[in-house]
Amino acid sequence: MRATRAAGPGAPAPPQYGPDAAAVLDGLPPLVDHHCHGVVRHEPDPATFAAFLTEADRPPAAGTTHFDTQTGFAVRRWCPPLLDLPAHCPPERYLARRRELGPDETRRRLLSATGIGAYLVDTGLPGDLTGPDETAAAGGATGHEVVRLEALAERTATDHRGPGTADAAEAFLDALAHAVRAAAETAVAFKSVAAYRHGLALDPAPPGPDAVRPAARAWLAAGAPRLTDPVLLRHLVWLAVATGRPLQLHTGFGDPDLRLDHADPALLTDLVRATADTGTDLVLLHCYPYHRQAAYLAAVFPHVHADVGLTLTHVGPRATAVLAEFLELAPFGKLLFSTDAYGLPELYTVGSALFRTALGEVLGGWAASGAWSTADARRVAAMIATGNARRVYGLADDGPTEPVG
Ligand SMILES: [Zn+2]
Repeated sequence: MRATRAAGPGAPAPPQYGPDAAAVLDGLPPLVDHHCHGVVRHEPDPATFAAFLTEADRPPAAGTTHFDTQTGFAVRRWCPPLLDLPAHCPPERYLARRRELGPDETRRRLLSATGIGAYLVDTGLPGDLTGPDETAAAGGATGHEVVRLEALAERTATDHRGPGTADAAEAFLDALAHAVRAAAETAVAFKSVAAYRHGLALDPAPPGPDAVRPAARAWLAAGAPRLTDPVLLRHLVWLAVATGRPLQLHTGFGDPDLRLDHADPALLTDLVRATADTGTDLVLLHCYPYHRQAAYLAAVFPHVHADVGLTLTHVGPRATAVLAEFLELAPFGKLLFSTDAYGLPELYTVGSALFRTALGEVLGGWAASGAWSTADARRVAAMIATGNARRVYGLADDGPTEPVG
């Protein structure tokens, strides 16, 4: 991706980054967005649009707006020029132009500017969202599916709800094991949202049949509501680990459905130890504000990786500081890029732009100071942007990568 982008008529975009960053980023291969979600197919009304800018699940406080946040400012910084408007234009003008273009053209323009070559889409969220292929097609890229374990269990349970007999529980558990194995044949990874459903302080041992059967029976008898039973959550984790597919785990901040202090990745330490010799990789998602804990786990456990997604979108120009903090302890082969975009194509644009800018500024700065060679900075940039994810998920190489020398 070039260091500067041609803006729409009369809408010069601000410079993206300086010469130190450009030395690292010029020629960067297409990004692999290893954790993201579909975008809404319809045109969101202004309140719905603004709601996608925040992790809050309620309207903003009276007299305030979700646009007055780092995410809101980042959308106004990066997206208007792609819709032929000046950067930083008011939200109302941006939303009016968006309506004029319609959702398909808006999505095409915003996604094709991300520099993303592969989208790994978590398909476990409800709503009228684009799927992996549809999302990727809008951006001229390839799509892959990541299967959310709890959603898979809840779907599987719909055929087994009822009085919760031992037979029904047994049939459900068989169907669930089959569903996880079948998903592993087509999906590139699994994802657990145990952080939301119970918290990460889970008993690390795989639960035995004597624990799993009564838990399944009780859950089915209750009508299989939202899965929060810690035994079944652990059972899902271990079913996924047994497939050998990488397992993504939500950690760190998210919507208020979770308790932040229960989502500290350090709480996973015992599970990390227990899975160390299984041959299955764990990928800690988001991590903020516990990204230094995640970096530590990635440093000392070969099968643990960490991700900067969502975080960079929410911290705006502070993305350089957060990325630098990740890179204090995280080995360079362990950090993965993602946007965690959800609902709005704008969040793909912003997530990739902030990542690229932060990556260039941090690594370019270290190269300019002489701490790193420029060749190493370029090589590490390509690893974090694409190479690490391609290795962890077993994705085919996307053309020639950056020369090392
Ligand atoms: Zn996500």
